[in-house]
Amino acid sequence: MFHLISNLLHKGTFSHGIHPDENKHFTENIPIRRLPFAPELVLPLSQHFGAPSDLIVHPGQEVVRGEPIAKAKGFMSVPLHAPATGRIKRVELMPTAKGPKTPSIILEVYPGDSQEVGYYYERDIDEMSQQEIIQAVQDTGLVGLGGAAFPTHVKLSPPKEHTVHTVLINGCECEPFLTTDHRVMLERTEDLITGTKILMKALGAEKAIIGTEKNKMNAVEAIQKHLPEDGSIEVRAVQTKYPQGAEKMLVKALMGLEIPSGGFPSAVGCGVFNVASTAELGELLPKSQGVIERVVTITGPGIEKRGNYMVPIGTPIRFILDQLGFSGSANCLIMGGPMMGSSVSSLDVPITKGSGGLLVLTESILEGQHDQKSYPCISCAQCLDACPMHLNPSQLGKLANKHRYDEMQSDFHLMDCFECGCCSYVCPSGIPLVQYFRVAKSSLREKAARERANAS
Ligand code: SF4
Ligand code: SF4
Repeated sequence: MFHLISNLLHKGTFSHGIHPDENKHFTENIPIRRLPFAPELVLPLSQHFGAPSDLIVHPGQEVVRGEPIAKAKGFMSVPLHAPATGRIKRVELMPTAKGPKTPSIILEVYPGDSQEVGYYYERDIDEMSQQEIIQAVQDTGLVGLGGAAFPTHVKLSPPKEHTVHTVLINGCECEPFLTTDHRVMLERTEDLITGTKILMKALGAEKAIIGTEKNKMNAVEAIQKHLPEDGSIEVRAVQTKYPQGAEKMLVKALMGLEIPSGGFPSAVGCGVFNVASTAELGELLPKSQGVIERVVTITGPGIEKRGNYMVPIGTPIRFILDQLGFSGSANCLIMGGPMMGSSVSSLDVPITKGSGGLLVLTESILEGQHDQKSYPCISCAQCLDACPMHLNPSQLGKLANKHRYDEMQSDFHLMDCFECGCCSYVCPSGIPLVQYFRVAKSSLREKAARERANAS
């Protein structure tokens, strides 16, 4: 058996990167469990990259589980489906993990209902054309469940000049603490293979590779048992290293190809999809169902019942914490993992389609962090050695301090930074480099938007 597995270990990786403590042992061996329905679900109309969904229900209206409640507003948008049978209570501004309040549907869940999905029909994927599949994918409301929340159907429509020959399924899950994708690969393997075949058909790709890291070899074994005999789908384990799960890093590790600066994977003939999104697609598309729930890793020293939970979209964090045992405050919460996640401002923030993890810290850990000071750069170059994009974070940090954002962009490729946080992690002076870069990028984006508005 070991010989079989060792053959599946792929040597490839990318240069630089870091090895933070994984902390996955808290949840990686716990099977997915279901959380009950909260009395009220909070459903932001904007929980994906692109235009917010358009409301198609009104307060007082009854809806059944799975019914569309908002439609896509154009191509760069997706619809929203009712995660539970109940009544639309109101539409109001509610906080989200991203920060600003956003228009959200408040759905009152009927407590005595069986909560069977009441809105679906079966269909034969083999009978569908590529274009029909792409439209059907948009109709599911599926977005990247790994955190980016980029609409999946848009990824299935690459520029005409690009030919996608290989679908890469990203099961690396390199963020410390998170084990959602790991459990999905173990427990939803058949859906994963079905979803992979659908993606291949939609893109006209001949080959697919499911990529994971060496710390998840039981997932490799599980997938291996379900692979089609024609060899069109492979599974490979690459080195365990952060941020191996970043799109550019995975393409480099599995294919040896470099995605050009500012470009998409399709520029090098690849389409990259998260493993949980792919399994979801494999389950939903044959039944014409929408995304109404997702697996979330709920973990960290501040939560009693850690694990991976199937959570209805829209479940407020407050409800989850009440169910699983927690006594801290909203300051202790990070939506996502410790490297790329964002701190949560309110316990009213709901789980959305892009929420793969909820990391719960304690007040004492936070106090320790607040005591940490930052010191001047000592030019040790550790940040340069860590940056997977081969940028110069030290120089970028110095320019950010002087608000020389234009220079950061033109001379030091700021926009190639994907905010992985490796530079901040290794910096012995404790300089919050990645925070500086987020501020600088946001300032540059606002400036560009102002210039566009002035020109029109
Ligand atoms: S946050 Fe940006 S600059 Fe820092 S290591 Fe990651 S990609 Fe490089
Ligand atoms: S790691 Fe920190 S101290 Fe070292 S060069 Fe980079 S910014 Fe300066």
